[in-house]
Amino acid sequence: MWDLTEFRKELKELVNIDSCSSDRDDVARIGELLAGKYRDIGLYVETHAGCTCIQAKTHPDTDFDVLLVGHMDTVFPRGTAGKRSYREDESYAYGPGVADMKAGLVMILHLVRKLRKTNPGLRICIANDGDEETDSILSYEWLKELSGHARYAYVFEPGRPGNGFVKSRKGYLGIEIDFNGISAHAGNAPEKGASAIREMARWITELTALQNLEIGTSVNAGTVNGGISPNVIADHANVYFDVRIRQMPELLRIKEKVQELQKNISVEGVTASVKYISEMTPMSPTEITDRMIEHITQKAEELHMEISWFCVGGVSDANHLAGWGVPVICGCGPCGGNLHSEEEFLELFSLENRLELMFQVLADLSV
Ligand SMILES: [Zn+2]
Repeated sequence: MWDLTEFRKELKELVNIDSCSSDRDDVARIGELLAGKYRDIGLYVETHAGCTCIQAKTHPDTDFDVLLVGHMDTVFPRGTAGKRSYREDESYAYGPGVADMKAGLVMILHLVRKLRKTNPGLRICIANDGDEETDSILSYEWLKELSGHARYAYVFEPGRPGNGFVKSRKGYLGIEIDFNGISAHAGNAPEKGASAIREMARWITELTALQNLEIGTSVNAGTVNGGISPNVIADHANVYFDVRIRQMPELLRIKEKVQELQKNISVEGVTASVKYISEMTPMSPTEITDRMIEHITQKAEELHMEISWFCVGGVSDANHLAGWGVPVICGCGPCGGNLHSEEEFLELFSLENRLELMFQVLADLSV
């Protein structure tokens, strides 16, 4: 029913080409390869050199029924594919990006190949960006514009082991804070110094105290730097926070605290400069996504398939889409795990089930 030999051949081809987010030429190679395959099945393909993004539509219309999203980049540096290229054992496939998310890219391709024939009226748009692993900064505007024309979106990030889909993702905020103080000899003239580290320490305790895991808010001071020697009062310190939230007002609460701390510096002579980095809204279930969840669950039941639903802390393009108000389900790709590590794996035994289930779901959108 599904040509899994062809699937694995195309997957191998993609995995064996490095496509680290920072190597734009490598990502573009994946793009060219996919664009060729899309043209072969008669899609209207547009490539965007600035962001190394590709869109491929079944119809020339501006609006479409469904957006299928897959990123082409991986977290692995150039040379990784050469060192540990695609391989399979009886049940799993391995290699950089095999699950996250080159298998998702191949899955979209196979689905659209078939849907073109079975559901010629279904207006599909495929969106492939090339910098998701670095928060889609380059592709942000392009994806935003495109998603404005979609009724529904499905993101083919890896499914979770256990035939899992992702129904919610936490939002994210990175906060980088630089503290500048006055250096002085810690023994001879401590009164002349203003310790950037002392001020930073207060911010760390105050901000991490806002963590409230019960409602899904976590605040982690992930890296700190500062000072040059124990006998010198530090004139510089730097901290990077990772904030995850399930509810949007929580982001406000954190930012208000940051503002308050900045207005009330406790170590005289120290200044703090705050940079907010990659703010992402949470992907939270809505009335429409609840219906999409119901729809997938129902189709799975018809196929006598067990599926599971996950709420996760990691972010993806689905966060952006949800933030722009597009009904979106994530984790629709073949299942895998140990993502972003050398142990990344893809469940080969999940391929057929996932293809068939998502085919049934998408085919039913046009009725
Ligand atoms: Zn991914």
